[in-house]
Amino acid sequence: MISRIDLRGSLPGDLRPVLPRAELDVEAALEKVRLICDAVRHRGTAAVLEYTRSFDGVDLESTRVPAGAIAAALSGLDPAVRDALEESIRRARLVHRDQRRSDTTTQVVPGGTVTERWIPVDRVGLYVPGGRAVYPSSVVMNVVPAQEAGVGSLAVTSPPQQEFGGLPHPTILAACALLGVDEVYAAGGAQSIAMFAYGTEECPPVNLVTGPGNIWVAAAKRHLKGVIGIDAEAGPTEIAILADATADPVHVAADLISQAEHDPMAAAVLVTDSAELAERVTAELAVQTARTKHAERIAEALAGRQSGIVLVDDVAAGLAVVNAYAAEHLEIHTADAREVAARVRNAGAVFVGTHAPVSLGDYLAGSNHVLPTGGCACHSSGLSVQSFLRGVHVVEYDEAALADATGRVVALAEAEDLPAHGAALKARFGWEIPA
Ligand code: NAD
Repeated sequence: MISRIDLRGSLPGDLRPVLPRAELDVEAALEKVRLICDAVRHRGTAAVLEYTRSFDGVDLESTRVPAGAIAAALSGLDPAVRDALEESIRRARLVHRDQRRSDTTTQVVPGGTVTERWIPVDRVGLYVPGGRAVYPSSVVMNVVPAQEAGVGSLAVTSPPQQEFGGLPHPTILAACALLGVDEVYAAGGAQSIAMFAYGTEECPPVNLVTGPGNIWVAAAKRHLKGVIGIDAEAGPTEIAILADATADPVHVAADLISQAEHDPMAAAVLVTDSAELAERVTAELAVQTARTKHAERIAEALAGRQSGIVLVDDVAAGLAVVNAYAAEHLEIHTADAREVAARVRNAGAVFVGTHAPVSLGDYLAGSNHVLPTGGCACHSSGLSVQSFLRGVHVVEYDEAALADATGRVVALAEAEDLPAHGAALKARFGWEIPA
């Protein structure tokens, strides 16, 4: 049964402690993850295969998925799934292509310019989860922005599946084939992130790792940050819905359930100023959960302390709550949904009105579904072309422009007691500060 938090009357100054949130103790997982990462660093593929045996229950001889298996997965792909994946790729490309930035040159002074060049990362490792559920959609969401950014070398890893002979799920392999990705590894969890970070005999090291995953993946990314770049931590999924009395309780309940289906640690939060809607959604949750395939997992997620229904006085108070919560996914089901959505400040992605459910965004909206969780949406963005680019300043000054700057550079260098900095400029002008 989903819990209820009544914030009618007055909102506390700091809302975060009273809001439902998953207690995902990444720090506690770090101890084990450090051992896993060290083993992979020192023993390479052999260590990855050992952890694969103990955590995934499959005995592999190699982490690399053979090219023939990728091609076979595409040949065997259900035509309806192929059509859906192709359309998902097409829509994602449209959106991500528009995110590409152009280099900009700023004339700072006559004869002095700074150009910002956007350069793709050389090599990336993309994690596609595959524990409880398999996520071919996450192949699309990782690969498309990396390709649109112009990344030259791109590898995908996903946990091996016992029922498919230790290969990643065939739909994941087929999605890789559709996207032209031929470097694929059968490895999951922390050991696969360490494989990407340190490199092994079979997998050259990467510069950046992106993609969602469970607590072991999140802990490994946190531990290896610095050795590699990472995207925002994208852990167990979250949906928050801000709804008023005009919302349809059947749609609201269905959308909360759709995200609870991911994981018993998934968070489903309804924020509403309508006590009647809260009652009707609670009743609908019971009815609809009983009908779904993953009823047990969903019931656990809805009953967890990370989920709940928050009652507020009005939509303005609801906005304060959802902005404090900073959900990965935020749906707006209010009379003036677009106007309310425009006032959202913190969310990984916002879904406006009843015709934009999160499930659409998970697969086919064109938006990216790798989004910050755990409140990280107040400082981080979802995966985008930008995640795979680095901005590099290119500085060009001519002699006159440098001469004009020398006096001020020398003054600042002396203020910092770093006179050699000033000397580097004076050396170019016969050691005199130019007039
Ligand atoms: P996963 O691929 O992240 O993790 C499976 C791996 O975990 C296994 O291969 C195994 O190696 C490792 N593992 C399992 N038990 C372990 C243990 N006891 N010790 C060490 N390692 C262990 O798959 P998952 O578990 O299904 O999790 C996927 C997560 O990704 C879900 O929480 C889902 O909500 C989330 N997700 C998030 C987004 C997002 O954008 N935020 C998108 C899709 C999925």
